[in-house]
Amino acid sequence: MEQTQQRILVVEDERNIAAGLKLNFELEGYDVEVAGSARDAAALLAGSDHFALILLDVMLPDADGFQVCRRIRAAGDFTPVLMLTARDSTEDRVRGLEAGADDYITKPFELEELIARVRSMLRRRGWEQSSTAHVSHSLLRFGGAQVDFERGEVTVRGDAVSLTRLELDLLRYFADNPRKVCSRAELQAEVWKLDNYPNSRMVDNFILRLRKHFEEEPSSPKHFLVARGAGYKFVPDP
Ligand code: CA
Repeated sequence: MEQTQQRILVVEDERNIAAGLKLNFELEGYDVEVAGSARDAAALLAGSDHFALILLDVMLPDADGFQVCRRIRAAGDFTPVLMLTARDSTEDRVRGLEAGADDYITKPFELEELIARVRSMLRRRGWEQSSTAHVSHSLLRFGGAQVDFERGEVTVRGDAVSLTRLELDLLRYFADNPRKVCSRAELQAEVWKLDNYPNSRMVDNFILRLRKHFEEEPSSPKHFLVARGAGYKFVPDP
């Protein structure tokens, strides 16, 4: 396994928090850059540094974190984003995930939990990058969609669509388990690699995202179906 230091971008204007995060992640062996505003973050992301993960605060002086996340995704950048939401607000979490964030943690957070969450996100990514080398054929076709998991290229009825890493991970898990009823806990453990953070809304929101991407009528889905009380199932060919 490669031992190059993974670089994390911390986007947070509160200097004490930013400095604390920088120090602690550096102690964990990561390389850390801090941006104190949306503008600084955009400048760093446009530069030559490669970031393995972005920690993105919702409250910034010149934009909110949701806007920043949307811009990152709109630019075709699918670096994992972990949002720091200011309150334990469902609305904030949903907005963050809808903006393309991969996960969120609410302030105030326990540093240990944040570090564990970051590790888990990076491990999942590392696993995925090393495992794709062994996949020789990973093309999924269903309902007018074509998904090349190796290249992360997706078209839906002829149009190119950008999926985040986690959206692709979830779709891939479904593709590997067609027609199987998958519980939310199973999806969270297998796709997010999060066994101990009960958070079924996260799964629900990602299902909504897949429906928006792929279903002709997201409100009456044909492929990403709810299995009442039990979870979800993917039906490639209804
Ligand atoms: Ca802030």
